[in-house]
Amino acid sequence: MPRRKDAVIPLYQFRCAQCGPFDRTYSMATVPDSSACPACASDARRQITGPRLGHGSSTQMRLLDSTARSASEPAVVSGPRPGARTAVQNVTTNPLHRKLPRP
Ligand SMILES: [Zn+2]
Repeated sequence: MPRRKDAVIPLYQFRCAQCGPFDRTYSMATVPDSSACPACASDARRQITGPRLGHGSSTQMRLLDSTARSASEPAVVSGPRPGARTAVQNVTTNPLHRKLPRP
């Protein structure tokens, strides 16, 4: 399966002996036991953590965050957005449809 740009990419933590911890993204299948430190380029061991799937700025995470936020902080609107189709609007122009029974 091709990797999509907005897919959730796991974030792993590594720790350099001199510089301290840093994060790198790898797919779950290719995560190495050690990675080069971005500051001093020495070998840094991967910390024992779970893949942090909820971090990063993917489209999927933004959608999940806004969905969770709308449950606790719903956006209040005063009416339908401009140009929105309403229920009272005629949906057909066929004159025969006027003879159909109404609820
Ligand atoms: Zn380092």
